[in-house]
Amino acid sequence: MKTLEFKNGDKMPAIGLGTWKSGKDEVKEAVKIALNNGYRHIDCAATYGNEDAIGEAFSEVFNGGKIKREEVWITSKLWNNAHKKEDVIPALKQTLKDLQLDYLDLYLIHWPVAFKPDVDFPEKDKDYLSLEEAPIIETWNMMLEAKKQGLVKHVGVSNFSSMKLEELLEETSENPEMNQVELHPYLQQNDLLEFCSRHNIHLTAYSPLGSGDRPDGMKAKDEPSLLENPVINRIAKKHGASAGQILIKWSEMRGTSVIPKSTNENRIKENLESTGVNLDESDFKEIAKLDSHFRYVTGEFFVTKGNSYENIFDDDDYKA
Ligand code: NDP
Repeated sequence: MKTLEFKNGDKMPAIGLGTWKSGKDEVKEAVKIALNNGYRHIDCAATYGNEDAIGEAFSEVFNGGKIKREEVWITSKLWNNAHKKEDVIPALKQTLKDLQLDYLDLYLIHWPVAFKPDVDFPEKDKDYLSLEEAPIIETWNMMLEAKKQGLVKHVGVSNFSSMKLEELLEETSENPEMNQVELHPYLQQNDLLEFCSRHNIHLTAYSPLGSGDRPDGMKAKDEPSLLENPVINRIAKKHGASAGQILIKWSEMRGTSVIPKSTNENRIKENLESTGVNLDESDFKEIAKLDSHFRYVTGEFFVTKGNSYENIFDDDDYKA
């Protein structure tokens, strides 16, 4: 499998397992199935509410002796209610405890938005902290401190527009090594890819299959299906592959990491087997035409009068 190489030589396997919306009882099994079938990259986050179950899977697999902790790339993310500088390391330590790990390979600031420490999910403007109350540079400096303390090997961000990245780069001497964002044929984000490549920031593609299992309240009416797209399905048929495999391979071939979520044994295996599919130039040309700047995860739930954003993504390919 392709890997993404970091400055210090560490290599992140391009394809990982996503775990958002995976229930506690199913995620433990899913992670074990993934690791026992060749996955070496798992994407987690405190807010997914299942890190303790994933930790049980890690403990069983790593104590089983066949797969060592060092062979697996494990990412997690700082939730928006722990941006204040005194809250970053305690939140990370809780994640390490839940995951039953001594260190993470990658820790990300999940969103460029801060909530008050006792707020899990904001309902009112007053649930947010302003940029003055929780400057992103202070959160970022604590991420760097976590790296210095050996709690994480690499640090980065998620859902950062090129404008927000630019602002952060102006203030720090140590750039994020990763930006995890939504990327798929309907949201190709070529400008962001170019910006990140210029600044040596890797990208991870989230919701690569169209995030079909989001709760209804998070879905737009009549949102388009990626897995049922006729162009994707024609290319899949041509290669004797599934639509999911084409979408995953497309991300991998663009040089990004990609983290499809599944709790189904067959689909977990199928998604990793996309490494065996090869897309040609004509496939890429066809898929390029599908870009419609469509976001499944709009971040609209974080836009209130209490922060200064009209949209979280600062018009980086934004279409409401
Ligand atoms: P995905 O695009 O990965 O889609 C997941 C859905 O696709 C599930 O319904 C899954 O069902 C189904 N599925 C999986 N494989 C296949 C297949 N081969 N064929 C058909 N259907 C399939 O959605 P996510 O939004 O979960 O994104 C992936 C991961 O990215 C997340 O789990 C999370 O780790 C990360 N993420 C990060 C965000 C961030 O803010 N940083 C935001 C969103 C996601 P089933 O499980 O039944 O197979």
